[in-house]
Amino acid sequence: MPPIDSIAAQHDEMTGWRRDIHAHPELGFEEERTSDLVAAKLEEFGVEVTRGVGKTGLVGRLRAGNSPRSIGLRADMDCLPILEANGFAHRSTDAGKMHACGHDGHTTMLLGAAKYLAATKNFDGTVHFIFQPAEEGLGGASAMIADGLFERFPCDVLFGMHNRPGLAIGKFQTRPGPMMAGGAYFDIAVTGVGAHGARPESSIDPVVVGSHIAAALQTIVSRNVRPVETAVVSVTRFHAGQAYNVIPDKAVLGGTVRCFSDSVMALVETNMRRLVESVAAGFGATAELDFRVLFPVLMNHADETQFILDVAAELVGDENVNRDMVPTMASEDFSFMLRAVPGAYIQIGNGDGEGACEVHNPGYDFNDGALPLGASVFVRLVEKRLDRLAAG
Ligand SMILES: [Zn+2]
Ligand SMILES: [Zn+2]
Repeated sequence: MPPIDSIAAQHDEMTGWRRDIHAHPELGFEEERTSDLVAAKLEEFGVEVTRGVGKTGLVGRLRAGNSPRSIGLRADMDCLPILEANGFAHRSTDAGKMHACGHDGHTTMLLGAAKYLAATKNFDGTVHFIFQPAEEGLGGASAMIADGLFERFPCDVLFGMHNRPGLAIGKFQTRPGPMMAGGAYFDIAVTGVGAHGARPESSIDPVVVGSHIAAALQTIVSRNVRPVETAVVSVTRFHAGQAYNVIPDKAVLGGTVRCFSDSVMALVETNMRRLVESVAAGFGATAELDFRVLFPVLMNHADETQFILDVAAELVGDENVNRDMVPTMASEDFSFMLRAVPGAYIQIGNGDGEGACEVHNPGYDFNDGALPLGASVFVRLVEKRLDRLAAG
């Protein structure tokens, strides 16, 4: 079945918005132009706008009828610090900043749904359109929650959507329970004793100590985490020294941990701390671990997952909806919101030909073919959840 006809009729207009936002990317908590644009559009549609929720975040409120029921729909607005490699007309006008994760498309799909819902008001209750800043590791969801997001704009349920390159246009996927990994970053500062490169006997070499630490950390996944559970420990940074003939006195390692439960995250941290300190001590050096959990596991609530999958299936057919996607090791800021309100996150196909370029790649672009489909899912979530008949 095609997307709702009048949303399909908004396709060109939405493509224009999307390309405008793509051409003017803004990093986390700097989304001034983007939130101005979103606020202006929402007000033009007749949606009540509250600015400054989580710095550059904003919320639109749309009411119809008298029902106390409410639903939240969330999109993210920030870009990434990437130099865009595309040459098309709507490429980034700000070198070094780029919508390489498709948040331009997410913002546009939610705007398209707001336009339709404000015009038709075929529901009974309150919709909160949540436009989140700073999804890419800067804590935009937490900033909105700390600003009283769910006290000021109560939501019975909450839904969000992310594009997925490699999944065909018109397809959707998600799963109940853990869908995206929890993520932590870590830094390890190793302190040894520097010396002449030709006099290792005078040193405690932090490069050798750091190398043993990096190797030892690999045993956490293979020897400490239960084999039926999943975790990633990646050392992605190793900085030490300047000269060929100087053994430095310090080395700094860093990296990331991903897993699907709080208990595995805690187990990784405990084992990492013990290994870091004891391996260093074994060489006569010292090492300090700074371990920061940035994202909790994204946990989809079972009923709401079923609901959004049914809504998507009604639009595109059951054969185009995967109800048991393989969880991804990537992390997502929306996980904080799903800890506060029951809801679900779903992936929308960005194309398996054009649109298959991975996110966070300088050649990526959101596929405009997905716009009416995503907007239609948002619309149907509202019309079904805040059904006028059910309100009686
Ligand atoms: Zn991203
Ligand atoms: Zn993203």
